Amino acid sequence: MITIVKESATPAQLEHFVSWTQDRGFRTNVSQGENETIVGIIGDTSRIDPLLLEPMGIVEEVRCVSDPFKKANRTFHPEDTAIDCGHGVRIGGGNFHVIADPRCVEGESIHRIAEVAKAARATLLRGSPYRSSTNPYSYQGMGAAGLGLLARVGHDVGMPIMDEVMDTRDVGLFVDKGIDVMQIGTRNAQDFALLREVGRTRVPVLPKRGRSETIDELLMVTEHVMSEGNSRVMLCERGIRTFEARTRYTFDVNAIPTLHRLSHLPVIADLNHAAGSRRYAAPVAPAACAAGADGLMVEVHDNPNEARSGGATALTPEGFATTMRRVSLVRDAVTTRLE
Ligand code: PEP
Repeated sequence: MITIVKESATPAQLEHFVSWTQDRGFRTNVSQGENETIVGIIGDTSRIDPLLLEPMGIVEEVRCVSDPFKKANRTFHPEDTAIDCGHGVRIGGGNFHVIADPRCVEGESIHRIAEVAKAARATLLRGSPYRSSTNPYSYQGMGAAGLGLLARVGHDVGMPIMDEVMDTRDVGLFVDKGIDVMQIGTRNAQDFALLREVGRTRVPVLPKRGRSETIDELLMVTEHVMSEGNSRVMLCERGIRTFEARTRYTFDVNAIPTLHRLSHLPVIADLNHAAGSRRYAAPVAPAACAAGADGLMVEVHDNPNEARSGGATALTPEGFATTMRRVSLVRDAVTTRLE
């Protein structure tokens, strides 16, 4: 249920209304927008008689929200949310950023890759010291040493860093090392214990859509994080499994405007994991931007042929720079209004 608060309501009346609601066992979500203040009421709201709210004098309108996802719901929070990722990088609400992704942290090469990415105007760096892989015999990453290295490189080049957390036991370590954004990969998409654990931190979280997850299921994933108190959440479309076998997954470009309609959270598009080949990822990046993505994750490696993971999908530094220029042209085109 959402309640639209009257313009005349004082802060004291609003506070009284919120405590009245919470005293009855409900959770609340207050969204103070430019034009209106909305109080979202979460719980079994069939127990609330809207007529009871009227005498409080501050409720303009009551509307029922039937979607099971509440905190991520645009009805609860009509304005776009921007997430502060550190180093002055805010994603969403009109701010567009590219996350450079060499996949694994393999050693000092991460420093060179970060410099290349920054020169091409990427603003975040993703690298995984722990690799999530379907194959247990493939390269599994550098482990904890890589986490420290990534943090140092992020600090040196002045970019927020993102890393994938796969185990509830590592969340504290990620916080201690100053990881700026915690990614939840598709393989952990519905690991609810992990989602709740990152929800108990204040670090921005990027849950990727599960390979066979519907859009509503992805939104319920965010609810697990947000219901623990962490509202710094972004959404990631990374391709879903379909019958098509020519690409690794099918990038669902429809998911971008659909998520924007349903939710106020920023939407990131991860192209390379869906495409499974740099040949397809590069042309799809401008398309995701045109569809309204708030950010892109683009794989880049200074020497893809020698990469220990993701060599076939990573762009070369030249390919990355070209893709960035194309994305920038599309971004300018879609944000410029035709007169
Ligand atoms: C990754 O980002 O390294 C990864 C394996 O992605 P996904 O979880 O989307 O497969």
